[in-house]
Amino acid sequence: DERKRKAAAVIEEVEQRFSTPTALLRGIADAMVEEMERGLRRAPRAAQDAHQLRRQPPNREGESETLFLICRALVHGHLRNTSAVFNTTPLSGCWDEQGLFYALDLGGTNFRVIRVQLGGRDKRVVKQQYEEVSIPPHLMVGTSTELFDFIAAELEKFVRTEGENFHLPNGKQRELGFTFSFPVHQTSISSGTLIKWTKGFSINGTVGEDVVAELSRAMERQGLDMKVAALVNDTVGTLAGGRYADNDVVTAVILGTGTNAAYVEHANAIPKWTGLLPRSGNMVINMEWGNFRSDKLPRSEYDKSLDFESLNPGEQIYEKMISGMYLGEIVRRVLLKLAHDASLFGDVVPPKLEQQFILRTPDMSAMHHDTSHDLKHLGAKLKDILGVPDTSLEARYITLHVCDLVAERGARLAAAGIYGILKKLGKDKLLSDFSQQRTVVAIDGGLYEHYKKFSACLEATLTDLLGEEVASSVVVKLANDGSGIGAALLAASHSQYA
Ligand code: ADP
Ligand code: MG
Repeated sequence: DERKRKAAAVIEEVEQRFSTPTALLRGIADAMVEEMERGLRRAPRAAQDAHQLRRQPPNREGESETLFLICRALVHGHLRNTSAVFNTTPLSGCWDEQGLFYALDLGGTNFRVIRVQLGGRDKRVVKQQYEEVSIPPHLMVGTSTELFDFIAAELEKFVRTEGENFHLPNGKQRELGFTFSFPVHQTSISSGTLIKWTKGFSINGTVGEDVVAELSRAMERQGLDMKVAALVNDTVGTLAGGRYADNDVVTAVILGTGTNAAYVEHANAIPKWTGLLPRSGNMVINMEWGNFRSDKLPRSEYDKSLDFESLNPGEQIYEKMISGMYLGEIVRRVLLKLAHDASLFGDVVPPKLEQQFILRTPDMSAMHHDTSHDLKHLGAKLKDILGVPDTSLEARYITLHVCDLVAERGARLAAAGIYGILKKLGKDKLLSDFSQQRTVVAIDGGLYEHYKKFSACLEATLTDLLGEEVASSVVVKLANDGSGIGAALLAASHSQYA
């Protein structure tokens, strides 16, 4: 009948708009590589950046080997917040760090406080504990002071529960690695100013401020005696933590509330780097790839309206097609169209379906994984979330199909990005000398960890792009909490007592 015909028309259009044939993904990967190259070529934002870095005190060996973000790199490219990190210690596999270190991971949805007792090269992580706290939504759009006070208060509580297995030598101050997963213009290992908020955060007055200073002041207000030894992006933390566990990790990808990636680049492939070269010859590039955009990205009307109505219109275009904050919202928008045009949920459009972000990605994932013959779990979710008591079997199957289209597109686009990085590194080919080759991609984030259909599709797509033979040397690994350990490690290697 008429309704069915209309539903079919909407679905067919979505299928077309959302389709990501392998050839398109290859084009996207190439566009990503181009952006990366453009970013690495750009001159430092100002000579003063390089100057500032040179003035940093040299470390013990008389060589500047600290971790740095060089200037807000790709000022004009789409990956315009890309920055390079200059680090040798934690990436070269010395791993001599010892002692008690804290990490604080502020992502997009949750934040975590972590403590680890590092036992040096042989023992590595002797003990670790963490606690996860979800960020009250009103704090994401409140004031800087409120947000940092809340974080510092939770941290203070956590420090009070420090047990006997953790040892802080007498007279030493506790030290912290601060993982802050937003674009930052890093000014030293332990300072950096916020470039912009993303992922639903919108707090006046923080942009341009030093987030470490903000945190430190809040810790003081809590009476917490702790020093921020390192400011770390989550991708960089995951890369450091990933390498701590496995030396073949070349790139770290975050697929959580938002998405981003970092990778290890040869310093001589970074023309714009004018500072000292690290001894290892390697630098870490934080790509800020969430901000990638390209005409090749299959953007639909749903993506455009989502972006337009978001807190950061025009920004984070790639992220808005891929990450956990947005997938459920894209599904909602398609379902709303189906409800309007084809009365998918009956004659009236369920009012709740009009509400932005009401359909969260974990719920989408739960619906998508329903294997019951009558999709009863999916039906129950629709009832819970949208308040539609009875849904037809057809409506449920259509909903399932929409989840599938949206998740598959996101996963395939993410795979194209990873393929781009591997291409940039020349890891998309078999080595001609037939030497043993192993490439590890460390992935962290709740989306990848929990959304099985998403992660399975990402991996299958990457294999498809690489070809079976090369794919067999590429390992995709969940680096669960790599960023927490990584931040603690980076704090340890930049400890005031080291
Ligand atoms: P953050 O990105 O805030 O650092 P996480 O890495 O823990 O935090 O990712 C949390 C995000 O992961 C959530 O916002 C959600 O989008 C996604 N997520 C969490 N659980 C699931 C799930 N079961 N299915 C799909 N996505 C999930
Ligand atoms: Mg995170």
